[in-house]
Amino acid sequence: MTVKEISDHFFMFKFTYKGSFDNHIYAFINNNNEALIIDTGYKEDMKRLLKYFEEKKIKINRVVLTHYHEDHFEGLKLLKDVQIIASREYTHAINQYYLDDPINDEQYFPDIFTEDIDSVQHGSFELKFFNAPGHSKCSIHIIINNDYIHVSDNIMHSDQGMPHVPLPYYSFTQFIESLVKLKPYSFHKMIASHSDDVFCENITPEVIQVMIKYLETFMKSEKELTLDEMMTEINPNNEIQFDPKWHKRAYELFRELGQ
Ligand SMILES: [Zn+2]
Repeated sequence: MTVKEISDHFFMFKFTYKGSFDNHIYAFINNNNEALIIDTGYKEDMKRLLKYFEEKKIKINRVVLTHYHEDHFEGLKLLKDVQIIASREYTHAINQYYLDDPINDEQYFPDIFTEDIDSVQHGSFELKFFNAPGHSKCSIHIIINNDYIHVSDNIMHSDQGMPHVPLPYYSFTQFIESLVKLKPYSFHKMIASHSDDVFCENITPEVIQVMIKYLETFMKSEKELTLDEMMTEINPNNEIQFDPKWHKRAYELFRELGQ
């Protein structure tokens, strides 16, 4: 685990996995040594974070979940007496993937729905939320002090700093709408759950626009295109390149979802 202080009272904890992407947990720690964290990582990640917090006498009392995918919520299983804040749509992901998992237990369900509140204050930080379905139905984007934006897994990039193709586990059309809504916020410092850098500086409005076109191409074209074919069409000057790794997976999802 590595710790990075982003600003006063605002930290990023990074967990590295060989051959897979990193996991990030963000924490805001107030003057009473209470932490609000964004996502919990895997159980293993949470175990390490709790050890670190224990030494510093910090207690996690609030958790915001960007969405209910395992690498974001599994650590909940090690937390007690925390307030969970997440989208009302969390049931969709639970029903889709985790019906037989202990996570399908009321104690891990949100206490507060982001749809019901304007913002949450923790120390000097104000967190605002907006629904951003696409990667999952319950994905949210979090605006922090009008300065940072957490983009859930709607934006991911490789350790080499190359944007990944979007992975719509829930909906292609809604993913497009969420990216359109995200574009005006791209001047905020963008933070994400898995990328190597602290800020996604290479995710410009132009990159987001190519992501939107990428998703639209699935719905427009009759036959399956390679990533190169698609990029030549939507990005003829070849200025923006995507990591090719998940292109096949995106087609699988497109076939599964039928949209
Ligand atoms: Zn995810």
